[in-house]
Amino acid sequence: MEPLQSLRGMVDLLPSATATWQRIEATAREHFRRAGVSEIRTPLLEVTELFARGIGEATDVVGKEMYTFLDRGERSCTLRPEGTASVVRAAIQHGLLNQGPQRLWYGGPMFRYERPQAGRQRQFHQIGVELLGVADAESDAEAIAVAWDLLAELGVGGLQLELNSLGTPDDRVRYRAELVAWLEAHREQLDSDSQQRITTNPLRVLDSKNPATQALLAGAPTLADALAGESHERFARVRLALEALEIPFVLNPRLVRGLDYYSHTAFEITSNQLGAQATVCGGGRYDGLVQQLGGPATPAVGWAIGLERLVLLLSQAEAGEAAAAATPLLYVISRGELAERQALLLTCRARQAGLIAERDSSGAAFGKQFKRADRSGAPWAAVIGEREAADGVVVLKDLRGDGPEQRLAAGEALSWLVELTT
Ligand code: ATP
Ligand code: MG
Repeated sequence: MEPLQSLRGMVDLLPSATATWQRIEATAREHFRRAGVSEIRTPLLEVTELFARGIGEATDVVGKEMYTFLDRGERSCTLRPEGTASVVRAAIQHGLLNQGPQRLWYGGPMFRYERPQAGRQRQFHQIGVELLGVADAESDAEAIAVAWDLLAELGVGGLQLELNSLGTPDDRVRYRAELVAWLEAHREQLDSDSQQRITTNPLRVLDSKNPATQALLAGAPTLADALAGESHERFARVRLALEALEIPFVLNPRLVRGLDYYSHTAFEITSNQLGAQATVCGGGRYDGLVQQLGGPATPAVGWAIGLERLVLLLSQAEAGEAAAAATPLLYVISRGELAERQALLLTCRARQAGLIAERDSSGAAFGKQFKRADRSGAPWAAVIGEREAADGVVVLKDLRGDGPEQRLAAGEALSWLVELTT
C-alpha cells in the first residue's frame, strides 16, 4: 500500500529536533515566571468572527490565509492563525480584566494557508506575551525587553530591533489621507496588490514585500511627520526607556500594523540570517482591540515570536549539546529470561535514582549488545548474564577508561554510580 504523507506545510518534529524545542520552551517558561507573566491556554478552534473582528477583514491573514470550515452544527469555525484575539476573548469572557492588569503568555501551533518555504509553514508555532491593562510608555519598553532578553538568553545573536510609532487613531486618519493622495499620484508604478490596498488598507502598502514598491515608497510621506505632539512625546519616552535598558534599535518609519486598534509603538525583531523571512518577533501596542472584541476599554501591548524561525537561528552546535544531555550514563546489557527481568528492574531503579539509563532489549549476543553500548555514548555498562542473575549481582564495566570490572549487588552498583555523578 502507498504510505500516506503529511499535508503540505504541516511539519513533523522528529526526535532529533525536539530537544532544541524543549530547551526553548523551558527557557521561555522560566523567563516568563521571573517577569510575572502567567500562562494562558486557549482552544485551537474559534468562531471565525473572532478573527474577522480581531485581526480585520482587510488583512492577508483573514482575507486569504485562514483555515475556515463549517462544523457539523453549521457554525463557521477557524483554526487560530495567531494568539492575541483568542487571549483577549478569553480575558473578556472570564472577567479577567476586572481584576487589574493581566500579564499573560501563550504558546502553540497556529495555522495559515500560505506558500510553504524556509521559515514559513502552514502549521507553525508561536510563543507570545500580552500585557493587558497597561498604558504607560515604559510598559511598551518592558514588553520589548521581555522578548529581547529571552532571545539573548537563548543565545540568538545578530538581531536587530526595528521600531516605529503609529500614533493615535486621529494621527492615522490625518496620515492616511496624505498617504492615499500620494499613492493615487503614483498608482501606475505600484504592484497590483498595493493598488488594491489603496482603498482597502492603505497603511499596509508600506509593508509591501515587492522590491519595486519598496524603492518607490522611499519618497512617500511618513507617519512620523504626521504624529501630533503628544504622540511624539510618548514615542520619545519609549525610546529613552529602551536606551536606559541598553536595547539598541533602529527607527523604521515603514513598519506598520494596518488596523485601527493598533496605536503608538510597533516593533519587529529581525535577523539578517533568515533570508526573506527575516522577522522573528513582531508586536506592538493595540489599545483598541479589547473594545473591538466587546470588552471594556483596555490599553494593551504584546508580541509573538515565530518558533520555526527562532530554531533556524539557533546553531547546529546546540543540537549537539542537546544530544549530549540525553546520553545515557548507564547502558544495561542482559541475556536470558531472569537476567532480562533483572536488567529491566535495574534500569527503572537507576531512572528513579535520577540517572539516565538505557536497556538493550534485543536479546542478541553479548558482543552485539556491547557494540550498541559503545554507540550509545554511555560511560558505564551493567552486564547481567545468567550467572549474575542467579547470584543477584551485576558486572559494572568502564566503557571509556580502563578501570577494573566490578562485580556488585545491583543496589550497590546503583549507589556507586549515583555517588559518582553527585
Ligand atoms: P510575515 O510578514 O513574515 O508573513 P507576519 O507579519 O504575518 O509575518 P505576525 O502575524 O506578526 O507575522 O506573526 C509573528 C511571527 O510569527 C512572525 O514574525 C514570524 O516569526 C512568525 N510567523 C508568521 N507566519 C508564519 C508562518 N507562516 N510560518 C512560520 N512562522 C510564521
Ligand atoms: Mg504573514
